[in-house]
Amino acid sequence: MNFSGRRLSRYRRWHARRRRELQAKRTKSAIRRLKRRARREARHARHVNHTIGKEVVAVAQRTGRGIALEELGGIRDRVRLRRDQRATHASWPFHHLGDVLAYKARKAGVPVVTVDAHYTSQTCPRCGHVARTHRPTREQFLCRQCGLAGPADVVAAVNVRNRARRAWVLVNAPAPA
Ligand SMILES: [Zn+2]
Repeated sequence: MNFSGRRLSRYRRWHARRRRELQAKRTKSAIRRLKRRARREARHARHVNHTIGKEVVAVAQRTGRGIALEELGGIRDRVRLRRDQRATHASWPFHHLGDVLAYKARKAGVPVVTVDAHYTSQTCPRCGHVARTHRPTREQFLCRQCGLAGPADVVAAVNVRNRARRAWVLVNAPAPA
């Protein structure tokens, strides 16, 4: 994937700072500029979502895979952010990203499975043990039971994928006679 989360959050932080500067002014023109800025930022976020959606669906289609999504709110709950990142992250239109993905996937004939996001960051994908203590830091996962270690984001994504696979098997299982 070509999306630099770091570059994006820098962009968001820069906007947040400009917004604060303008808010401090409170003149008519400052308010006008503030509104224009908010619109531009929202447009940019939607554009980024479309770019992400397009690439994710293209990869899924090319490799004959489906797409697993955490149900809405999952991303926000799972990712623990520094205080200064919270505002920009909370305002990111995840709902729109979900809509874009679902729409593009449907058009391309790519299956989408939405899964329960609970404990995706605290569950060990190897032994199934669930504990808060599997996260020594925000970025790391370390299973206290079996020793599995890895980047927390990747481990959470593996859990999402596994849940989606189970749901997919269930949905597509032949109905009992
Ligand atoms: Zn484990």
